[in-house]
Amino acid sequence: MKLAQRVSQVAPSITLAIAAKAKAMKAEGIDVCSFSAGEPDFDSPAHVKAAAQKALDEGKTKYGPASGEPKLREAIARKLKTDNGLDYKAENVIVTNGGKHSLFNLILALIEPGDEVIIPAPYWLSYPEMVTLAGGVSVIVPTDVSTGYKITPEQLRKSITPKTKLFILNSPSNPTGMVYTPEEIQAIAQIIVETDILVVSDEIYEKILYDGVKQVSIGSLGPEIFERTIISNGFAKAYSMTGWRIGYLAGPIDLIKATITIQSHSVSNVCTFAQYGAIAALEGSQDCVEEMLQAFAKRREVMYERLNAIPGLTCPKPDGAFYLFPDISKTGLKSLDFSNRLLEKEQVAVIPGIAFAGDDNIRLSYATDMATIEKGMDRFEKFVKSLI
Ligand code: PLP
Repeated sequence: MKLAQRVSQVAPSITLAIAAKAKAMKAEGIDVCSFSAGEPDFDSPAHVKAAAQKALDEGKTKYGPASGEPKLREAIARKLKTDNGLDYKAENVIVTNGGKHSLFNLILALIEPGDEVIIPAPYWLSYPEMVTLAGGVSVIVPTDVSTGYKITPEQLRKSITPKTKLFILNSPSNPTGMVYTPEEIQAIAQIIVETDILVVSDEIYEKILYDGVKQVSIGSLGPEIFERTIISNGFAKAYSMTGWRIGYLAGPIDLIKATITIQSHSVSNVCTFAQYGAIAALEGSQDCVEEMLQAFAKRREVMYERLNAIPGLTCPKPDGAFYLFPDISKTGLKSLDFSNRLLEKEQVAVIPGIAFAGDDNIRLSYATDMATIEKGMDRFEKFVKSLI
């Protein structure tokens, strides 16, 4: 069959493929230690599930507005004010089928063929693929460990051309876990305003921060940057609601209206009763977020110590998310080869850094229980020692 050309320009998600392979091995009864998951290992909070169940029982099972349930849009606007210092009204918010869908809607609404989108690498793998699907051009800016895998203001300035439309900022980052400091955010904001481009701030990991580190939302730094900012966020990571598929965008009203139009012709609306769970997540107790964070913090310490104790491996300590991104170049293997051999020889699943444009690294997720971390790291250490 002759498929549309746009399909040949994008690759299937490597992260989903490896996670699926590890799952299939587990299903065959193989004892796999998986560090590949991009999702918290906890159940969704009980009060969130109860709210969705109640909505189901009350018959909230019909089509809803393409923009999202009004109560949820209002709750999101309140959250953005309280947590992030952003002055949005409910009409500045669209509810989407997850953070991924938020970004997809945004890029479709904004990017025309030839428009440039600046993406610092290592990046979350879907960004450039979405840009490609929209006919845009990704301008990938490589970063390394010397800047904590963060783009510098100088790099950003140099990458901006008359065709630049959008800069994608992701802090805390997937795959590196790095968090931009308030000063770095300020410097980036200044350049965005001066050059009059837009920034989308992907804040999906904003609640997963360690050691007292604070996240500054770029749009909160003043009216000029606010009007050039779009916020993308969701419920998956903070509330362990990956399968619920609920996210949102907030931004200038004309842009949000455009995404609502797109959504009205694509998915119609996000699952109605699930949105009532999301309202409970925002309005209920936030203890569940804190409990998960405490668990992640302990696991992060263990995995970080274990990784850095392996001769030849180096890994900075990230301030956010639930990933570690060690440099494996001393093993002499590139990331895909490393990850495949590790899975075959020691039944440990990790994500090859090439998926994020970081071929000398791999990504390990510690969104798994401590016993798996201990056992998996024993195997991992054995594997690396056999190479170096
Ligand atoms: N942005 C980043 C950086 C992510 O890592 C993810 C998920 O892995 C998403 C967005 C999308 O999350 P979801 O679509 O599950 O809400």
